[in-house]
Amino acid sequence: MLINIKRKARVYSPWIFHAHAGGCNNCDIELAACFAPRYDLERMGIQLRNNPRHADILIITGPVTKQISSSLRRIFDQVPNPKVVVACGSCALTGGVYNRDDGKPNYALAGPVEKLIPIDVSVPGCPPKPESIIDGVMLALEKLKEK
Ligand code: SF4
Repeated sequence: MLINIKRKARVYSPWIFHAHAGGCNNCDIELAACFAPRYDLERMGIQLRNNPRHADILIITGPVTKQISSSLRRIFDQVPNPKVVVACGSCALTGGVYNRDDGKPNYALAGPVEKLIPIDVSVPGCPPKPESIIDGVMLALEKLKEK
């Protein structure tokens, strides 16, 4: 019974922690727009939180610089299980514009995200539109139901 209530609470009012792992910041602005009045994700019970220990969904933007990589891993470990990881934007998925043209590794990057932590949902785009991010969050909710 308690497990069912917990699962319902998680699925019907999931909390999101956003981790910025480098990048140009535009993905972060689009994510912020999802919570602004036009899209207003909070009307669906979804909230941004500032503590990974309170989150159900971890959204990561940026290519993951070496400087942030250990902190990102720590944040991932702090999000309680079951959790869903959303990689948001081309940088988080592939390194995006931070990849070198000659195919050699960028000296400043430890990413993309999947090199460090498992991804459940991918949201492509540079930057992804708020509609795509909201689709990704909905997909994350479906995954959360299964966990
Ligand atoms: S995916 Fe594009 S918009 Fe997002 S952080 Fe990378 S360069 Fe910026």
